[in-house]
Amino acid sequence: MSNIIGSEEWCSFNELQIPAIKARIDSGAKTSSIQATNIKRVIRKGIPYVDFEVNPIQDNRSVSVFCSAKIVDTRVIKSSSGTTQKRYVIKTPLTINGHTFEIELTLANRDSMDYRMLLGREAMSGRFLVDPSKHFLAGDFEESAFFDLYKHLYKEKTGLRIGLLATNRELYSNKRLMEAALARGHEIQFLNIQHCYMKLDAQTPEVRYRGGNILDEFDAVIPRIRPSMTFYGCALLRQFDSIGTYCLNSSASISQSRDKLFSSQLFSKNGIQIPVTGFAKSPLETKDLIDMVGGSPLIIKLLESTQGKGVVSAETNKAAESVINAFKSLQANILVQEFIKEAEGKDIRCFVVDGKVVASIMRQAPKGEFRSNIHQGGTAHKVKITVEERRLAIKASKILNLDVAGVDIIRSNKGPLLLEVNSSPGLEGIENATGKDIANTIIMAIEKKLKYQPKD
Ligand code: ADP
Repeated sequence: MSNIIGSEEWCSFNELQIPAIKARIDSGAKTSSIQATNIKRVIRKGIPYVDFEVNPIQDNRSVSVFCSAKIVDTRVIKSSSGTTQKRYVIKTPLTINGHTFEIELTLANRDSMDYRMLLGREAMSGRFLVDPSKHFLAGDFEESAFFDLYKHLYKEKTGLRIGLLATNRELYSNKRLMEAALARGHEIQFLNIQHCYMKLDAQTPEVRYRGGNILDEFDAVIPRIRPSMTFYGCALLRQFDSIGTYCLNSSASISQSRDKLFSSQLFSKNGIQIPVTGFAKSPLETKDLIDMVGGSPLIIKLLESTQGKGVVSAETNKAAESVINAFKSLQANILVQEFIKEAEGKDIRCFVVDGKVVASIMRQAPKGEFRSNIHQGGTAHKVKITVEERRLAIKASKILNLDVAGVDIIRSNKGPLLLEVNSSPGLEGIENATGKDIANTIIMAIEKKLKYQPKD
């Protein structure tokens, strides 16, 4: 048997009862890793073990193999998206190209791995040479033969139908929501916002899809509406609501949360603490606007800002005045806000589902930067929040009436302050940093709303 393997190969793990899994052969990585979910450390007869699930089929979480192995080590890994993760290391026999040998394997919890498994150079050294231009030199599978290996693990269909109303099905969050719905035995269809259209009529209102199909069979719709699609996406949601489809986050609550001025007014009216903030239209009152929020240093934000792109700080009143006047001359809508220096470039993202904080992370800005957004080079890690912060996150999402919300909080000398509430919070950063299956939690919240009882 040849000792040359390609850049993708099929492997199997006898002890873990994984008869086949596609691996990317990556000599750039030292250790091998496998994608695992529901990772739990347990003690058996005084020895630390890890229980976990592997979904051996790509983009499909309805098939789960339950595994358990002794923990041989724990390592902290930093992913390319800036999150750090503690990973367990196990040892188990691997079979590839007719050879079986023991390898070290880290359990990677839902990061952006394109493959369910990655075979690093440690496992290959002295055994195989890699020809990166080739694939499956050790033999390939027919897709149906591969699926047959896991037939006994397929879930029964529940009959629940969900629509995912979004723009890009390849986004991490959208892929995860589709996987999670399938994993629970539901049907889910991706609905591109731009391909939906509506019939307004008192008797028979409709939503139709490209090709003319009438979308009347959905029990629920999950909106994932990007800011540029708010107007049309919300109109569609109202239409789904009028034909009796449950919408996870209503049209009204999404529009409200997208309007930073309106939502800030709702927060102050309801006694929610936010950094002192000023809004204005005419450039004449610039000086007073600056004084009103306590003078420099201060923050100036474009109302349409996302990912921290439209947020700047001004160290002096003079600088603040110039920036405000420059923005105003461009007719941009802005807000001026006291700078929370003591936050030291950190903020907290609480992920709220159905009135509960299900996960929270702290984001830290890189050195010399005050914006903690991952897109600005920030890093994220799991954080334990205080009772007060939890209350604030829950109250803010309740005021906006959001079933799912990403609530951003900044820690100040006055206590936690609310920065912003996001109605389509991303799953990637929070799932990677906390290891939690948030997509599954969201699908479970839909089941609860629809009063659906899972059989098991
Ligand atoms: P965006 O919606 O573009 O992400 P944010 O209002 O969330 O804008 O601000 C981006 C980042 O800037 C926040 O995550 C936070 O780290 C930092 N930031 C925002 N407002 C303040 C403030 N008032 N004081 C200190 N830092 C702030």
